[in-house]
Amino acid sequence: MAKGKKKEVDDRFSKFGTVSFTSISKVNDFIDYLAQGKVMGTKCKQCGTVHFPPVADCAECLSSDVEWFEVTGKGKLISFSKLMYGPVGFEDDLPYSIALLDYGDYKVFGRIAKDIPDEELSIGMAMKTDPITLPNGQLSYVFTKA
Ligand SMILES: [Zn+2]
Repeated sequence: MAKGKKKEVDDRFSKFGTVSFTSISKVNDFIDYLAQGKVMGTKCKQCGTVHFPPVADCAECLSSDVEWFEVTGKGKLISFSKLMYGPVGFEDDLPYSIALLDYGDYKVFGRIAKDIPDEELSIGMAMKTDPITLPNGQLSYVFTKA
């Protein structure tokens, strides 16, 4: 960053491409972690509730004493659906499949990697969450077979 130049808007979340997140400056570190190849959620240090996508304040006890944890290991595919129509700005990506992985303490919503054929997807299968860089340079993550 240029010396002495004050950044007025923390817009790191604009680097994130696929899923709509509420842009809260306190959780913009998510993007920095993604750039490092880590998909991160937050865990409340007061009550232990884990959140993905990350939150600045715990939804359970409203504490803002949260810490980061990395989404690692295998999740279980509990739901997926192929989108033939998408929100404005996503038309070129269609069709793609959105899915929900169950990691036990938390669930992760996202997209399934495009190179996985539909017929290889089944409810209950093990998948993992991988950070990716999209062709346009945006950062995101996809689900791949574990
Ligand atoms: Zn809490």
